[in-house]
Amino acid sequence: MSADAHLSTRLIHHPYRPPEGFEAVAPGVHKASTVIFPDVQALHTRDWKDKSGYTYGLHGTPTTFTLEERIATLEGGQHCMLVPSGLAGISLVDMALLKQGDEVLLPDNVYGPSKHFAQVELAHWGIGHRFYDPMDPADLAAQLTPATRLVWLEAAGSVTLEFPDLPALTAVIRAANAGRERPIVTALDNTWGAGVAFSPFDLGVDVSMQALTKYPSGGADVLMGSVVTRDEALHRQILLTRMRLGLGVGANDVELVLRGLPSIAVRYAAQDAVTRELARWMVGQPGVVRVLHPALPDSPGHAAWLRDATGAACLFSAVFDERRTPAQIDAFCDSLRLFRPGWSWAGPISLCAPYQVAGMRPASRWPYRGTLVRFAIGLEAVEDLRADLAQGLATLAAA
Ligand SMILES: *Cc1c(COP(=O)(O)O)cnc(C)c1O
Repeated sequence: MSADAHLSTRLIHHPYRPPEGFEAVAPGVHKASTVIFPDVQALHTRDWKDKSGYTYGLHGTPTTFTLEERIATLEGGQHCMLVPSGLAGISLVDMALLKQGDEVLLPDNVYGPSKHFAQVELAHWGIGHRFYDPMDPADLAAQLTPATRLVWLEAAGSVTLEFPDLPALTAVIRAANAGRERPIVTALDNTWGAGVAFSPFDLGVDVSMQALTKYPSGGADVLMGSVVTRDEALHRQILLTRMRLGLGVGANDVELVLRGLPSIAVRYAAQDAVTRELARWMVGQPGVVRVLHPALPDSPGHAAWLRDATGAACLFSAVFDERRTPAQIDAFCDSLRLFRPGWSWAGPISLCAPYQVAGMRPASRWPYRGTLVRFAIGLEAVEDLRADLAQGLATLAAA
């Protein structure tokens, strides 16, 4: 650039380059839509899909590649791609693997928005869905049809926290695939296990999707999702759909997840311990007919959880006596001072949300008529949380 170029040109094409060799604890945050190529030859030939180069911000930066590699390690997989939310990860896997005339199978305790995506969007595109009882591998086998292409799994199930026998469910699909031209893919929503409680690929799944919004971030301040595989061809297929859909993530959000990730195992264990203590305390409290948490011996799937997992997420649910009206349970939630009403979890603040489960069960029987409250445990002290629940339950008992 000539020294007599105009000021704006000299500022934009500035010649200064900082020295190489800067190394800090936190990886750098690189932002780009445009990536500059050294010449037009590089523009024509460079590839980004194997992370050997950079072509456009949407396709990867040093920052997104770094988080992708770390999340692949967290999940025990080989390949990872980032997406703007956990739900975007679910819909991406659906869109990448399903075509008109195909069917997807969902556990009937599946994350609600995953069900709604199938019921509305997939239905619009001529893609069918069926529900199976995740606690009954024989029911999964019975729901398979020649059109089945994708099976979602979730451990533990959203809201009701049944822990399925993942090896048994994935074995059903492996056996079915023996006679199929187009194999069925199994995809796990691994948000609950977070890559910490168990290793999804060792339990036989093909794809592990996680809402990084929850544990990997840990701050309740970022939305992101990941899709991890061990299989290169499967990764490529989903990656190309992500490219065509134009899904990408922002560097500042990636920075937040990179910042939360080093403490994930410590936070997971700490929140697990407090959650179990409060779940056990909740058993037998007045007005509570059932407490659901996989570590409780009478919780559905307890044996599979003991065998396959080394920890549990910060969630437990309590089913209240049916004589307590939904309005009374709403008032109970509002009477809590530390537990706040809100979605998501694995952040610093404890949360609660009431559910009417009976209407949410297409494939299995839900035996209770009372309202369920799901509690998500934050990072507050266990004594304070227990005292808050006690005062709320006393208010409910007096209502
Ligand atoms: C929160 C959550 C999601 C979706 O994550 P978002 O980032 O909020 O879209 C998906 N599955 C499960 C089990 C979740 O808890």
